[in-house]
Amino acid sequence: MDTILLDDIAVDFDEQALQKRLHVQPGSADAEELSQLCSDARRIARPKALYRIVYIDDKDDHGVVVDGVRLTSRVLRVNLDGVHRCWVYTATCGKELGDWADRLDDVLLQFWGEALKETALGAAIRRLNADLNERFQPGKTSAMAPGSLVDWPLSQQRPLFALLGDAERLAGVRLTDSCLMLPNKSISGLRFPTEASFESCQLCPRADCPSRRARYEPELMTAKYQRRGEDIA
Ligand code: SF4
Repeated sequence: MDTILLDDIAVDFDEQALQKRLHVQPGSADAEELSQLCSDARRIARPKALYRIVYIDDKDDHGVVVDGVRLTSRVLRVNLDGVHRCWVYTATCGKELGDWADRLDDVLLQFWGEALKETALGAAIRRLNADLNERFQPGKTSAMAPGSLVDWPLSQQRPLFALLGDAERLAGVRLTDSCLMLPNKSISGLRFPTEASFESCQLCPRADCPSRRARYEPELMTAKYQRRGEDIA
């Protein structure tokens, strides 16, 4: 099946919610400036999502081959036990808003611009998940992203983006030489069916991570993913 591009994504830049989140006093001069920024963002923002169903050709102890592209990760390999199809995806706040935010020349405005980009990215992620659920009805799923674990490093963005096709032309998302995504408020990953819900955070020891979505479970690595005598953490 062809790559699916979602590029008509509505974003609600809720000023009250943004004031609260950014600690801006309602009625203040800052609130007025934030309101102006929201108006600009409403005019400019074109968040996008791009995804594609892919099929697993082969598996070995250290990775999988998906539509002819090898992804190297022991954790991904174990998570894909019994799985035959999955979805590769990217979602982004959009190059238009990214470029606009890059031109903001005041530190406070730049900070607010990041929040507006996150708002647009959130809309893109919700639309991606809703479209995929409606179109494929995949049942219970989890997702993994290159760079979230030592076992699946950021360099694995390259094969992931190879699976996505021309993500830069279609969705305006590109990889830098160091495999970071631009615009910076973009995500990518592989979503797969699973009965046991999985979050990379369960295997990630990073303390005080503001984005943690699940409790760190160090015993899970040895119990489920590590082969005898192997250290993949
Ligand atoms: S704990 Fe934080 S750094 Fe670690 S995988 Fe989760 S979100 Fe990423």
